[in-house]
Order: sequence, then C-alpha cells, then structure tokens
Amino acid sequence: MSDKPDVVVVGGGVIGLSCAWSLRRRGLAVTLLEWRTCGSGASGASLGVLMPAPATRRGAFQTLQRQSLQEFPDWAQALRDRTGIDPRYRRSGLLEVIPGEGRRQQAVGESRIACSTWPAVDDAPVMAVLDAAGATALEPQIAFQEYGGRLCRTTANVDVARLIDALRAVCVADGVEVQENCAVHDLEVRDGRVRGVVLADRRLAAGTVLVTAGAWTAQVSPLLGAHAPMRPVRGQALRLRAPGAAFTRIIKQRGIYLIPDVDGTVIVGATTEAESGFNARPTAHGIAEVTAAALALAPVLADAEVIQTWAGLRPESATGHLVLGPVADVNGLYIAAGHYKTGIGLAPLTGRVMAAWIAEGEPGIEVAAFAPGPAAG
Ligand SMILES: Cc1cc2nc3c(=O)[nH]c(=O)nc-3n(C[C@H](O)[C@H](O)[C@H](O)COP(=O)(O)OP(=O)(O)OC[C@H]3O[C@@H](n4cnc5c(N)ncnc54)[C@H](O)[C@@H]3O)c2cc1C
Repeated sequence: MSDKPDVVVVGGGVIGLSCAWSLRRRGLAVTLLEWRTCGSGASGASLGVLMPAPATRRGAFQTLQRQSLQEFPDWAQALRDRTGIDPRYRRSGLLEVIPGEGRRQQAVGESRIACSTWPAVDDAPVMAVLDAAGATALEPQIAFQEYGGRLCRTTANVDVARLIDALRAVCVADGVEVQENCAVHDLEVRDGRVRGVVLADRRLAAGTVLVTAGAWTAQVSPLLGAHAPMRPVRGQALRLRAPGAAFTRIIKQRGIYLIPDVDGTVIVGATTEAESGFNARPTAHGIAEVTAAALALAPVLADAEVIQTWAGLRPESATGHLVLGPVADVNGLYIAAGHYKTGIGLAPLTGRVMAAWIAEGEPGIEVAAFAPGPAAG
C-alpha cells in the first residue's frame, strides 16, 4: 500500500468508486479502502433503475439528479471504452400503473410539464398518460387498473454488477490503489485537520480523507455521527426466470419494480424497511411482500422460478438530504453519502463534484443544501 496517498477514499460502493476514479483523473494519488469487496453494500443490491426526478419538483436535489442522469450515457460509454466491460445502459422506458384518480390527475400535470421541458425521445413525447386500454396495448401481461398508466420514455437502467466491475477495473487501470478486505476503524484527526485513517494493524497517513461508506458512514468514526447521521433502510429483491414473461419496459407500481433483463430473467424489488438495522439478509416476510406485489402486477409470473434473492442497506440521511462536501471543523475531511434510493443515478455527478471540490477547492455546481451537519431541529 502506498505510504501517503493524496486522498484516501473510505468505502468501495458506486459512490466511492466514482469519486476515486474522478480524483485519479485529476492527477491525485488515491487509495480506496473497502472492508469487504467493492459493491458489497447497497450498490451491489441495487436494481439499477435510473429514474428522472419528477418534472413537478425543482429543488437543488432534483437539479443534481437531472444533471447526473444526463451525464450517465457518456459516463457508461467511457467505462465501456476503457475497460471492455459494458454496464449495459439502456433507455428501457418505464410504465407505471396508476392506482387511483388522485394519482392520475397528478400524472397528467406532471406529463404536461415534462413534455414542455424535457426533450422528446426518438421523436415521441417524453411522457404520456394512457388509459387502461392504451397501457394494456403496450404491455398486455400487466394488470392495469381502470386508471391506466404513466409512460416515461426517458427512464433507463443499468446492470449494477457490470457497472461495479467496470468502475473497479477502471480505477485499477488508471492507478487507484484499491484495497479490499481492509476496514477503516477510525479517522486520525489532530489540531483541526485529518491526518489519515486507522486500520486494523497500522495507520495510513493522508492529507485528505473522503468518507463514502454508505449506511455505515457514521460508524467510521465517532466524530462523523453529528456530520452525517445515517440510517440503513433495507431493500429486498429477487430474480425470476420467467420464460412466459414478455415485458419490454420497466414496470412500476408504488415502490415495486419489474425489470426485464437482457438474459430473459426479471428482477423484482424492492421493500423499504426503515427498522431493519444493519441486518442485510433477505427475510421470508420481505421476499413474500415483493413476490405478492409482483404477482398482482403480472400474474404471468406465478410459475416463474426464483433464481436469486438478496437484500441491501440504502443509506438514508437523518437530515433528509444528501450529505456532500467538506466537514466544517476538520480540514481535509469530506463526506459523500446519504444517496438513499438514487445512488446509482447520482454516481457520475457525485464523483465529478467531489473530485473538483477536493482538487480545486470548488464543487463547480450549487450544492450548499447538502453540507454535512446535524439535522435541523
Ligand atoms: C434493494 C435496493 C434497490 C435499489 N435500487 C436502486 C435503483 O434502482 N436506482 C438507484 O439509483 N439506486 C438504487 N438503490 C440505492 C443505491 O443502491 C444506493 O443509493 C447506492 O448504492 C449508495 O452507494 P454508496 O456507495 O453510497 O453505498 P454502498 O454501496 O453501501 O457503499 C458503501 C461501502 O462502504 C463500505 N464500508 C462501510 N464501512 C466501511 C469501513 N469502516 N471501512 C471500509 N469500508 C467500509 C461498505 O462495505 C460498502 O461497500 C437501491 C438500493 C437497494 C438496497
């Protein structure tokens, strides 16, 4: 391991890997430390859906999300070109089942705004609200209710396992020192500045430390609890082999997605369990909940073979927003965490912003709303 890298990145999820790659591309010597293997946290458990922020919402977070999703295709292409590993970015489109009249009216309003502000997709309006017959004509195997469906043509998805493999590979190829099975036990801070990290058997000196430890961020050091209060929110999912399933788009109802994969299997997920603690194992109850929702949506899946179940812990910040940036009272210490349900989509931008901040002292975009700090009130 290099004796004194410019930057130590703590955590090898999609956020840590993206940051490490961007930092390295700016010429910094970077060591990434991951206590298990890269992607073994929330990132590897993700469904890989790249959902645009609702067109009706215009806050700082939505701006960030939109910008990151715009950058995603080129970012995925660059990863593919550099590593030969294709993250399989696909603009699959999404058809959401509308469960009631209130939601239908909301969808109509959202669709109007989206069509007037977002570019068309293949000459078709980016969004449309369809009645039940129109939705069924597009996806005949889905049980639409009388309120029909909302079609979003810009929703995309990636294969997260490939994305993580590609990110890890590009980091290594470009000279990031990636150390797996290497837990960070604490930060070393003296005289108001970070001096490095404490490992099981030694200290690693560094002038800058970036903590990207997802749901575990506050556990890396006692001093992070106040700056990045994080709680794990478990999500459970499964993969089905369903030869009879012929969906062509991502299907969504409330928090449940059906995602047709290129190999003919269907990914189904996910639960949202705020009381799971740090238990990242799938449970009978969770898998039953996801399965029941999937079968109600697509009865054709009843005989599908369950080929994999899994769970992961989404990092949700107690402040209710992302935590991005330098820690005010510790020079050289940065955090990028709290990406909750949107970390895959936010990865390109998070990497670019954190690298600019660390290398040049400026994030390059408006991110003041995400400054590390205690929850208000
Ligand atoms: C079931 C499920 C479905 C999801 N679906 C989507 C989706 O469709 N689209 C989307 O955009 N997002 C989705 N998400 C959310 C997304 O996965 C997360 O927002 C994202 O992965 C967060 O990335 P991260 O790098 O911050 O965290 P993680 O991936 O959790 O990475 C943190 C890493 O830090 C490591 N670590 C922790 N402590 C230490 C330490 N002390 N020392 C060293 N290493 C440490 C961990 O092992 C882990 O690998 C989903 C999440 C789940 C669970």
